Amino acid sequence: MIINGERRISKTDQWIDVTDPSTGQVIARVPESTPEEMEEAFQSSYEAFQSWKNVSVFKRARIMAEYQRLLVRDTDKLAESISREQGKTFNDAKGSIFRGQEVIEHAIAMPTLLQGEALQQVGNEIDIKSYREPLGVTAGITPFNFPIMCGLWMFPISITAGNSMVIKPSEQDPTSMVDAIELALEAGIPPGVVNCIHGTHRAVNTICDHPLVQSISFVGGDNAGKHIFARGTANGKRVQSNMGAKNHGIILPDCDFDSTVGALVGSGFGAAGQRCMALTTWVFVGDSYERMVDHIVEKARSLKVSDWKDPEADVGPVISRTSLDRIHRLIASAERQGAKIDLDGRNPTVRAGLEGGNWIAPTVVSGVTPDMDIYKEEVFGPVVICMKADSLDDAIQIINRNPYGNGTAIFTRSGNAARKFEYEVDAGNVGINVPIPVPLPAFPFSGSRGSFRGDTHFYGKEGVKFFTKSKVITSSWPSRAVEAVDHMKMPTFSK
Ligand code: NAD
Repeated sequence: MIINGERRISKTDQWIDVTDPSTGQVIARVPESTPEEMEEAFQSSYEAFQSWKNVSVFKRARIMAEYQRLLVRDTDKLAESISREQGKTFNDAKGSIFRGQEVIEHAIAMPTLLQGEALQQVGNEIDIKSYREPLGVTAGITPFNFPIMCGLWMFPISITAGNSMVIKPSEQDPTSMVDAIELALEAGIPPGVVNCIHGTHRAVNTICDHPLVQSISFVGGDNAGKHIFARGTANGKRVQSNMGAKNHGIILPDCDFDSTVGALVGSGFGAAGQRCMALTTWVFVGDSYERMVDHIVEKARSLKVSDWKDPEADVGPVISRTSLDRIHRLIASAERQGAKIDLDGRNPTVRAGLEGGNWIAPTVVSGVTPDMDIYKEEVFGPVVICMKADSLDDAIQIINRNPYGNGTAIFTRSGNAARKFEYEVDAGNVGINVPIPVPLPAFPFSGSRGSFRGDTHFYGKEGVKFFTKSKVITSSWPSRAVEAVDHMKMPTFSK
């Protein structure tokens, strides 16, 4: 935990095992922070906010610039910390830190992003202006799949806007977030401005109920996301809840063949499919499936399944035995329900010493229809499902009928088809020949429908809005030279 600038060992008697996904061995234990420790974290963040909000926004941005420098300096160390507990390949872990740094670059622009508006002479010698002010103590709850990046979606924007934040990382891989917060302290963020507590339901519910917490940023699965949104908003807090996904890619027969095969395989199996924007549902239009499937299978089969210590690893393990069991269950259900396994990655061979890990190699399932479990549930593993559509209209219909709206992509060389898709598809993040269209942080991460609850997204201008409230000042300073100032007017009478 980090409370008031100090890395501490909890006094709890409830500990959760953290296992190495590559071996299945227990490598750490994470505490359920006690109620007293959590209270101390909220109080310390509240105290820190009182002075931090008065620090010039330029100075706050400068500290972020220093933080950015330290993250670059320590990328390898942090990536190792991610890979050890999350299982990601080393390059993927480094890439995820870089994606988080881009949010910091956005936060460094806070002096401009925070600017309000002003209008002179809205009445007789009356001026009006608006500011955006910080909320106070904010909170963040993060998932296992991007242990540092999702935290970096949250606290850099929140604190550079003048708030403080209490973060609760995933209990499955908590250490790297603590390391990243420790580095923020080294950059000059005062004690208490970012605190870190640990745990599961009790910690989450304490965040949802605590009167000092003004907002909650959540990234994770549907159950937790819906619960946190309902409980947090019922308590009067702002909540942004990024949840699950089923991201479809439409492949038109006119697409650029080689680049599309590469893009599909990379986006479907990279990060072992444990990306909320992984493109895992491929809708082939016309004869594109028949022309591509062998090439896709060949490329997917060539990916090396290994642990993060192997520099040639392409696909790491999935996070837990529970995840692996779910993935196996869904593949088996697809077989039972009439789908075909084009590439079966179950029970792959891995190098000696890794037999106890949660391994599954790239798997391609074809002939999938919307009524199958593997289509209805989020698989969250290196498993891609293939569907067919007769036309672009039919493919768009499939996507728009799916309850999720996180991301989607089309592969085509036709500008007309791309424009039609862009206009008609009902998803928040859309790629045109871009397989994982996660927006760069000057734009908001715009998951919609079943993938999001709330009304203001992460980062971009929306992120700044989420972490601030507006104050509008109307002022009247009549000049003495003006004659006959009328001191008594009914406000609604003047125009
Ligand atoms: P998760 O929902 O299991 O856990 C996320 C956080 O919520 C953790 O900190 C966990 O401790 C807490 N939590 C879990 N269950 C809870 C419950 N019932 N009540 C209260 N708190 C609970 O998610 P995960 O397995 O860590 O992450 C994978 C999921 O996250 C996938 O569904 C993925 O699509 C989603 N995700 C979404 C985005 C996005 O931006 N939309 C990004 C990354 C991951």
